[in-house]
Amino acid sequence: MSSKTIVVAHLFPELLNLYGDSGNMLCFKKRMEWRGIQVEIREVHPGDTPSFNDVDIAFIGGGSDREQKIVCDKLLSVGNEITSFVEDGGVLMAVCGGYQLLGHSYLMGNEEIRGLSLVDLYTDHGDPRLIGNIVVDSPLCDHKVVGYENHAGRTHLGEGVTPFGKVVYGHGNDGNTGYEGVLYKNVIGTYIHGPLLPKNPGIADYAISHALERATGKSYLEPLDDTAELLANNTMVKRLLAGEVEEA
Ligand code: GLN
Repeated sequence: MSSKTIVVAHLFPELLNLYGDSGNMLCFKKRMEWRGIQVEIREVHPGDTPSFNDVDIAFIGGGSDREQKIVCDKLLSVGNEITSFVEDGGVLMAVCGGYQLLGHSYLMGNEEIRGLSLVDLYTDHGDPRLIGNIVVDSPLCDHKVVGYENHAGRTHLGEGVTPFGKVVYGHGNDGNTGYEGVLYKNVIGTYIHGPLLPKNPGIADYAISHALERATGKSYLEPLDDTAELLANNTMVKRLLAGEVEEA
């Protein structure tokens, strides 16, 4: 394999890490190591001034409204860098609170948090919170995407903006449109915690192969034995669709 080290920047792990989102880092690390790809997980803390020059994948997890308020200024202070990274094809994955901050704004009652405006979307608050298991059909992988959502936010995509997938079970962006998340260039925004990647190896590999292609010109990934992961994924999907899981 290549001698290039794939750098994964984990933004503000101490603030944005709901429902095991940091497990996505372990998944990136192991799936690259198992293939002999050198990988560095680089934590970016609120006091740091991150540079995205040598970053291949950036990850922003979910957080409470309070935590989002704390990080939004930090994110905006490097907004131009993140925009250049994204426009240059950098892989950016953002979950729930992180996803909401990719858009223009997040409106909580009278209070508005400004977002990065990387993607044409905005989020406002609704009642009740949208909580529970979720299953999505996404064009990014050939298995269903399964996970967990818990958000008051209702995210509205701009005209012509592509969602991450179609909701098969659960709520998604706003509980009405039947769409979940967003796709833009190599940006994936989603409400899916779980954590997302260990439960959905196809999504992990989609992100890794795109990062590898940008870094080395080659996107090929050695197949891994995902028997256990796919069995767990499929079992959960079947149980949910059969109505066997009682939601809170
Ligand atoms: N605070 C946001 C909301 O409730 C995001 C929550 C989350 O990341 N799970 O909509």
